[in-house]
Amino acid sequence: MKWDITEHALHSEFRAEVEKLSGQNLGDCYQCGKCSGGCPVLPELDLSPNRLLRMVQLGLEDEALRNETVWCCAACGTCDSRCPMGVEILRIIDVLREMAKNRNVTPPATAGRVLTFYRSFLDCVQEFGRLSEVALMGSYNMNSGRLWTNMVKAPWFFLKGKVSLSPHKIRQIDRLQRAFKRVEEIESQ
Ligand code: SF4
Ligand code: SF4
Repeated sequence: MKWDITEHALHSEFRAEVEKLSGQNLGDCYQCGKCSGGCPVLPELDLSPNRLLRMVQLGLEDEALRNETVWCCAACGTCDSRCPMGVEILRIIDVLREMAKNRNVTPPATAGRVLTFYRSFLDCVQEFGRLSEVALMGSYNMNSGRLWTNMVKAPWFFLKGKVSLSPHKIRQIDRLQRAFKRVEEIESQ
């Protein structure tokens, strides 16, 4: 890819918005690559963390929002702890993820499955107040269209009593559901 490093590209609106929302100065990153060197999920990513930051530095909005890294980052924080400049990469990735969601950017296929898993996980917590493996598996399989995922192992889990067929709700689930609703309201503002 031929990169545009003109003044215009280096001072894009997109970069300014990411800096404002994340509270980070992209100019601090000098592309040493230490963040990527410690990333445990690097083999699964299409863009290394430092390359992702480079996309933002150059104002390449589409490339920075439409990639697997934004969705497959495990949020372990290793990159943050390794950065000699104190750049909080995780905050930047969080902002990019939120922007991609708000702008309805279609994620690549692998990342799309991760997004489906996130949603199924949160739906489950919102419904029961805790994780129910059966509900999570059912929701994920339905929403992803991969109906038979993990089904081969399911009988073994049930026989060994590893998962319960009947999920239990926590007490005062309405309080948690109000919190979810409030977050949705804040996000839509
Ligand atoms: S470790 Fe810090 S300075 Fe180095 S590439 Fe990553 S973000 Fe940039
Ligand atoms: S927080 Fe994400 S990008 Fe950073 S090291 Fe962990 S998995 Fe990699």
